[in-house]
Amino acid sequence: MDYVSLIRDIPNFPKEGIIFKDITPLLANGPALAAAVDDMAAPFKDKNIDLVVGIESRGFIFGPGVARELGCGFAPVRKAGKLPYHTESLTYDLEYGTDTLEIHVDAVVADHRILIVDDLLATGGTAAAAGELIAKIGGIVSGFSFVIELDFLEGREKLGSIPISTLIHY
Ligand code: AMP
Repeated sequence: MDYVSLIRDIPNFPKEGIIFKDITPLLANGPALAAAVDDMAAPFKDKNIDLVVGIESRGFIFGPGVARELGCGFAPVRKAGKLPYHTESLTYDLEYGTDTLEIHVDAVVADHRILIVDDLLATGGTAAAAGELIAKIGGIVSGFSFVIELDFLEGREKLGSIPISTLIHY
């Protein structure tokens, strides 16, 4: 599947100097969306994944489809203040300032194997924070699956030796 032709570059969004990778053309294409979900799940089919965790917000688009492929459930990691039940939270550094992610304290069963899903790996700060959150509540982070990886930002360096799958590299 030619995913690259379905990713649109939006220069200077949401701020000057960022080239935003817009996945909406891929989402609008039925065969491409189905193939992307299948390809994101495929490397983890024999890895005994118990739960997929998606990162707000575009991880919510792909995560449930990947979970369905793997025959497991889904749990959300959200920005601060969005989850209704008791949460574990983690604040991490951005280029300018900080951000906070949260997960429900009962989102994972102890020692269950978790696959983290998001649309894009950039600096790795978001994915690493999601991984830390899952570890805090007792899950074992067993993989990361992304549509896009910006190789030049070396985000995977922050994710240690955990298997990472990406469909498109820039
Ligand atoms: P990071 O924490 O730097 O790895 O950033 C990853 C998060 O920010 C993901 O949830 C992405 O959706 C979003 N993101 C970062 N850079 C971009 C970009 N150039 N285009 C689209 N989304 C991005």
